[in-house]
Amino acid sequence: MGVRDDAEAIAPELVRLRRDIHREPEIGLHLPGTQSKILDALEGLPLEISVGTALSSVTAVLRGGAPGGAGADALGGDGLGGDAKGPVVLLRGDMDALPVAERTGLDYASQTEGVMHACGHDLHVAMLAGAARLMAARQRDLPGTVVFMFQPGEEGHAGARHMIAEGVLDAAGQRPVAAYALHVASSELPAGVCSTRPGTMLAAAEILEVTVRGHGGHGSQPHLAADPIPVACEMVTALQTLVTRKFDVFDPVVITVGTFHAGTVDNVIPDEATFLATVRSFSPAARDRVRESALALVGGIASGHGVTVSASFRDGYPVTVNDAAETRFAARVAADLLGEERCLAQPDPLTGAEDFSFVLEQVPGAYLMLGACPPGADPATAPNNHAADAVFDDSVLSAGAALYAELALQRLAL
Ligand SMILES: [Zn+2]
Ligand SMILES: [Zn+2]
Repeated sequence: MGVRDDAEAIAPELVRLRRDIHREPEIGLHLPGTQSKILDALEGLPLEISVGTALSSVTAVLRGGAPGGAGADALGGDGLGGDAKGPVVLLRGDMDALPVAERTGLDYASQTEGVMHACGHDLHVAMLAGAARLMAARQRDLPGTVVFMFQPGEEGHAGARHMIAEGVLDAAGQRPVAAYALHVASSELPAGVCSTRPGTMLAAAEILEVTVRGHGGHGSQPHLAADPIPVACEMVTALQTLVTRKFDVFDPVVITVGTFHAGTVDNVIPDEATFLATVRSFSPAARDRVRESALALVGGIASGHGVTVSASFRDGYPVTVNDAAETRFAARVAADLLGEERCLAQPDPLTGAEDFSFVLEQVPGAYLMLGACPPGADPATAPNNHAADAVFDDSVLSAGAALYAELALQRLAL
């Protein structure tokens, strides 16, 4: 039987696992319940499993048994282990949920108040565990090694960066030649339809934090004080001018000031004004430039007005860049598996951000979206990822597991 048929055969297991995780969602880097469900699902498979220290990650290594795979000796001998022989491919699935109060009304809805798998990472875990099962059954024929990266903390906690620091890219003994990640979408794409693009796939995102310090005084005598409010206001508008005057419209940046705080009452000039902005960019060059020029801009405005400013960028996620050759390869695999008409070329990058970008900074690879819009819902109007009423259809679990498995199988065979 082929991978797709085998994936169909384990679909009920994948649905069970996904719903178990959905019922008990966890946020951030520490997801002990989710981790133990993953370890249970991998139980009995011929994998080298390690867990994280700074976060509750699971790294599972499957060594192939075909000539070239390190498992060739191990299968007839003393168990698995040792350095990889043949290429290494990494597959990543993220594990964490969001601080969202679920409003789907599903019978397997979250039982944890205020926490929900609203981004579909529960599906990613089930699909990746399914791929491990499908590939373990083919271990003897694998001409290389697969690293399964189960990653906490994608939603703003840079879990991928932590896993890289703890050695996930060297888990097999040598660097992967390619890395792939799937992400489900509750809207925009019909169920089972995949899309990707070469080059920039998702934006870089980071937080600009600015505090303007003057000195306070009486509102009736501003000349005796150093008022931080008009200076901070000038910075907010100047940042918008920066966006339109300093950046190529075809390599844009987005700056949105989302908070602005200063003062207490009408007639007191405060000492400080603070604001936070989200800054999005779509190329590493634009990202570097916006960081540099935004800091220079607010510094210049502050000094022009005789106040001080502290401004910094809080570590965010870099641009997610799909390797052109790996994306072509992945799109071909997806089209063969799902059907030509179910694999779309994505016209523009997404303005969201992803910490798989940290992996793709070091390993060429591809990030693919997989539609999971429930039947009967219109992808154009269905609640989107992160919404409290977002619904992801279980029917895509077997396709996703098969796609992960085929990406690794075919890449190792190249
Ligand atoms: Zn998300
Ligand atoms: Zn997500």
